[in-house]
Amino acid sequence: MTMTINEYMNQWPEERLRELLAVASTETVETALNKQDRDIGDLAVLLSPAAKPYLEAMAQEAQRLTRWHFGRTMSLYAPIYISNLCAADCVYCGFAARSGSREKRITLDKAGIRSECEALAKMGFSNVLLLTGEAPKVVTPDYIAEAVSIARDFFTSVSVEVYAVDENEYRQFVEAGLEGVTLYMETYHRPTFKEVHLLGGKANYDYRLEAMDRASAAGVRKINIGALLGLYEWPLEVLWTALHARYLQKHCWRSSIGLSFPRLLHTPERYHVHYPVNDADLVQIMLALRLFLPEVGFNLSTRERPEFRDKLIPLGPTHMSAGSSTQPGGYATYMRGQADERTNYREVLEQFEIEDFRPVAEVVQSIRDAGYDPVWKDYDRAFDCR
Ligand code: SF4
Repeated sequence: MTMTINEYMNQWPEERLRELLAVASTETVETALNKQDRDIGDLAVLLSPAAKPYLEAMAQEAQRLTRWHFGRTMSLYAPIYISNLCAADCVYCGFAARSGSREKRITLDKAGIRSECEALAKMGFSNVLLLTGEAPKVVTPDYIAEAVSIARDFFTSVSVEVYAVDENEYRQFVEAGLEGVTLYMETYHRPTFKEVHLLGGKANYDYRLEAMDRASAAGVRKINIGALLGLYEWPLEVLWTALHARYLQKHCWRSSIGLSFPRLLHTPERYHVHYPVNDADLVQIMLALRLFLPEVGFNLSTRERPEFRDKLIPLGPTHMSAGSSTQPGGYATYMRGQADERTNYREVLEQFEIEDFRPVAEVVQSIRDAGYDPVWKDYDRAFDCR
């Protein structure tokens, strides 16, 4: 009988992962570096402090593997926030029902979604990610399917980052033209998960953990996971994320797997980051994961600073967002810098503050300067033979 993701993850409790981390030494790091196929024990030592002196060697290997699997390309995508309404209460999030934010809550109507799509399509984007908070009574699965269908009029590839839904609802999205689902577990550590998710469907750990199995079964072609770095100890979160990815590779083999590395930098006043992840940590995470999962796509968002994103380009990312807005209407209606009070972007609630404000053309130039080709369209449905 097939093992469920819950059963699989239950085999990897915290204590077992801590034992893997504890055996890290110069010798085990060198052994892990020199291997072809690395197991979870190798990943643990590469994530340990013992691997810090080997970051340069890890970077060289990560670069070699990324180029081997993906060439010198960087796919570009942009997020479109279609609603910032949220009935959930995740203590680290600006959209949370009880975050204390007073800015406007907005759900774009069809014309609004169309305007946002139009604005991004004009910039050249072909891949977009539609995002919402968790307000299933207003932002219903039907509404999301409709948004996907509108976006498909403009873009080759449409993905969503929305609340976890049932398999038949993921199927409805796929029928509307959906290609990908991004859903972060946020934290795999159950006690922390409970502490930070106070209200709403998101508080259901098991339902969320099983979401990608349902998405893949419904025909979603690209599934993208991650942990929100900063909620719990990052070596453990990264190991759990890697295990989840390996499980999905085996059990959801019809879908391609991607990873993101969101880290908590700005949070609402009521929440302080207990386990901060610094730049060097994030580099180590990305390199170690590339060595463990050489064929998995890595996403790098505008949450990170421009100069840091530029440094990371050759080290493992395969997809970058650019020119992003994290508020509904942020491309066509409530634009950053708008002078008109009626359309002042500050009135509209953003989920998190972005760090890389560069116009798309500048990001594209940085990618070229690093010796990579920016790719606007990385997938052609004509090749989908499912
Ligand atoms: S993380 Fe998502 S579900 Fe949680 S409060 Fe923010 S928008 Fe809502």
